[in-house]
Amino acid sequence: MRRPAHKQTRNLAGSLAWATRATRDSILPHDPAVCLESPVSLLPPSTQVVIIGAGQAGLSVAYFLRRFELEPGVDFVVVDRGPGTGGAWQHRWSALTLGSAHRVADLPGMTELGLSFETADHHRPARDIVAEYYRAYEQHFGLQVKRPVEVMSVFNRGADLVVNARTPDEHDDDYREEIVTRLVVNASGTWQAPFVPYVPGIGDFRGRQVHTNGYVSAEEFRDQSVVVVGGGTSAIGFMLELEPVASDLTWVTRRPVEFADDERLSMEGGVRAVTEQDAAARAGRPLPSIVHGTGVAKTRRIAAGIERGLLVARPMFSRIEPEGVRWADGSFQRADAIIWATGFRPELRHLAPLRLHNRGGGVTVRNGAAQADPRIFLAGYGPQASTIGANRAGRAVARQVVAALS
Ligand SMILES: Cc1cc2nc3c(=O)[nH]c(=O)nc-3n(C[C@H](O)[C@H](O)[C@H](O)COP(=O)(O)OP(=O)(O)OC[C@H]3O[C@@H](n4cnc5c(N)ncnc54)[C@H](O)[C@@H]3O)c2cc1C
Repeated sequence: MRRPAHKQTRNLAGSLAWATRATRDSILPHDPAVCLESPVSLLPPSTQVVIIGAGQAGLSVAYFLRRFELEPGVDFVVVDRGPGTGGAWQHRWSALTLGSAHRVADLPGMTELGLSFETADHHRPARDIVAEYYRAYEQHFGLQVKRPVEVMSVFNRGADLVVNARTPDEHDDDYREEIVTRLVVNASGTWQAPFVPYVPGIGDFRGRQVHTNGYVSAEEFRDQSVVVVGGGTSAIGFMLELEPVASDLTWVTRRPVEFADDERLSMEGGVRAVTEQDAAARAGRPLPSIVHGTGVAKTRRIAAGIERGLLVARPMFSRIEPEGVRWADGSFQRADAIIWATGFRPELRHLAPLRLHNRGGGVTVRNGAAQADPRIFLAGYGPQASTIGANRAGRAVARQVVAALS
């Protein structure tokens, strides 16, 4: 498709590929037409490897590629659509602290900076700490993450892959650039792909429906009757946060929640959950939920919530009506809001032109890459969708990438 003229002029500036926007005016002061019309490209025209996403998985892959002597910004380019550092963590709600989250694993090599999430302030918002630590990490290792760069599609052009990205700036909110590359590491996480189960009547509800990724603070639900749906840590966290402010709270789960008696997650359950996810990823099946396998750790806060009758879940309702939710036995709960803490799916829409999905709806993964196209590596996918899993993926995927380049 032909680009509008001013978008092509930006390509003229592509030879200045490594300039940042901040330096744009100092680089192009002698050509007013270019200064006015065409911001300097944020992306180089080509590279060997593009990493999509600078969350735990993408940064971990970048770290190991650098250790294997690939040069950041030259041999590989990391892009992220987020405005700042922190991956999905930068978008999480302020009441989520490191103390109330699961354990957040350190990035590989982070000790070199004298930083660890283990010793971080567990009372500050996790989003602030993770964003700060990731920023220090990116700078220390010179990873040169390009942002905001949203990959819209990845497609074939001859033997190469083309990454088409939106690089909005003050001149144009829909500015597009392309990078030609040999390999792609997809580390795009799940945050923008919330899953909400279909329930009859869902479109008729007159109140507010919010998914985990739209939750800002409990204060938004003051004096409201709220139904929280979901059996994981996020749903439980919402129940505990909403308790002092909501007028009425109902917790609903699709299946009974298994609380691990220990404060830590049961090792056996964790291994089972990861094994199930791994088997699904290898077979290309849609991925099962991790919490289903691990259970929820019964911390002192959660144990107290169960004890006082707050964390006692009802089964899933069978219909949603304009004023609330109704169960199969006819009972009804009026609701001002429904919060869906019902999980996420891998965010892979931008890879659609490559047709990686199989008939079962999943992507079959072999040695870290898509079976349908081994130039596409998946980091942080399936069993790797946690900070510890993402770290492990980093080393394994980086090794495979180096092997594929040689
Ligand atoms: C509410 C919640 C709490 C969690 N708590 C924990 C926890 O305590 N411990 C734990 O280990 N795990 C936790 N997780 C799991 C979580 O998935 C991981 O912590 C971690 O965020 C995964 O890292 P990632 O790099 O795979 O994905 P992300 O952190 O999601 O990073 C993906 C990055 O890709 C970017 N991106 C996506 N699409 C594009 C695109 N098209 N173009 C450009 N960039 C793109 C995003 O901007 C983002 O920065 C939690 C998840 C949720 C939803």
